[in-house]
Parts: sequence; C-alpha cells; structure tokens
Amino acid sequence: MEVVGLLLCLAAAGLAWGLLWVWDAWEQMKSQEQAGLPGVGSRTLLVTAHPDDEAMFFAPTILGLTRLGHRLSLLCFSAGNYYNQGEIRKKELLQSCDVLGIPPSSVTVIDNRDFPDDPAVRWDTGRVANVLLRHVEQNGIDLVVTFDEAGVSGHSNHVALHAAVRTLCAEGELPQGCRVLALQSVNRLRKYISLLDLPCSLLLARDALFVLTRQEVAQAQKAMSRHRSQLLWFRRLSVLFSRYLRINSLRLL
Ligand SMILES: [Zn+2]
Repeated sequence: MEVVGLLLCLAAAGLAWGLLWVWDAWEQMKSQEQAGLPGVGSRTLLVTAHPDDEAMFFAPTILGLTRLGHRLSLLCFSAGNYYNQGEIRKKELLQSCDVLGIPPSSVTVIDNRDFPDDPAVRWDTGRVANVLLRHVEQNGIDLVVTFDEAGVSGHSNHVALHAAVRTLCAEGELPQGCRVLALQSVNRLRKYISLLDLPCSLLLARDALFVLTRQEVAQAQKAMSRHRSQLLWFRRLSVLFSRYLRINSLRLL
C-alpha cells in the first residue's frame, strides 16, 4: 500500500513538474516576442506554391506577425491549375487573404508555364530564385516566410520554394537585413493532434512560435472555408484536427 502511495506521489510530482516546465517555456516564449525578427512596420512576404497554402499551413504565422505589427503581402507561385480550376482558385485565394487581413493589392499570383501546379514537375531553382529576388527588391521586403526543406506535405512545389530561398541565402543575394523564416514540418502524428502538440512545439528548438487564440483559429478556419473548390471531405477533417491551423514553429535561415 505504501509503495502504491509513493508511486502516486512520484507520478503527481512528475506531472506537476512537467506542467510547470511547459508553463515556464510558454511564458518565456511570450516575453521574448519572437526574438530575432524584424520589428513593427516590417514588410513581410509570405511565399507559397498554391492557393490555400496560406490558410492551410501559414494562418498562425500570418495572424501572429500581424499582431506584431508587420505589413504582410503574399507571393503565390501558381494558380493551382492542376485540375483546371486556376481561375476559381485565384478568386478563392483573394477571399481567403481578405479574411486573414491581406488586401488584394498585396497578393501576387504568378500564373505561367515555368511553375505549373504539379507534384511531378521540379521547378527550376534558379528561375524561382530570380522571380523571388526581383519581388523582394521591388517591394523592399524585410522578412521572407516560406516552407522548410520538407515542405509540410513533401509536395515538390513547396520544396522548390525552400530550395530557391536557401540558394539566395547561401549566395548572399538577398538585400542586406532581409531575413528568412522557414515553417518547420512535423511528422504525421503531430500534424493532426491540434493544440495537443503545444508541449512538443514548446520543447523543440525554433526561432519563432505562433499559437492562435480560439477566435483566431475560427478566423483561420473561415479563411480555409473560402477555398470552396478544395474542401473535399478529408480536407474538412484536417481543418478540424490540423496543428498547422493553430500552431506554427519557424526557424530563421
Ligand atoms: Zn501547396
């Protein structure tokens, strides 16, 4: 009996320690205010491959950076024309961005044969890098946000964006002071455990972490609902459980 009591005490102490640790990390994260990021008024460019990437994967970053006073714009490298729905999807993208606070004048969709929406086509890294660099220079961008090397879902178009940004960084071609944040991909289990992933996200290394409030999650889901042509049953399910609609961890390149 005494042994059971002792074990229960130890378990309770362990649980309390764990909760305190997570709480402490959370408080630290809030007080650091995303250390290393450009400050209020910064021009931030989100670079995506398809209409719906912004809502499905980056909503916490968009809303989090807006909270920090950044001015956001979006550069989407394709119209999402894989099923010949490009025109519809461009309109849906504008509606989604409107919900997320990005005005139509700040949304650019590149719709050309160099960058087809097709997982079987490898976009040329040099071409992506050139288009991106021109956009960054013309718009005085301070911070670029895009996918990491795993591209969340492994889609080759997502991965191509990371390869281009990585090349620009490695060759020192980005304007001085322009930083790059890459969205950290997580494994399939973590991807669908919603806010339960928070302890894991707090424990693991990252340079920025954005966690949405309940109202903001509703806003992100509303943005996702604007992509009506994409809302197949499995996407509706993923909207309910996806961690990416609630939490984004990012690393500076
Ligand atoms: Zn995509």
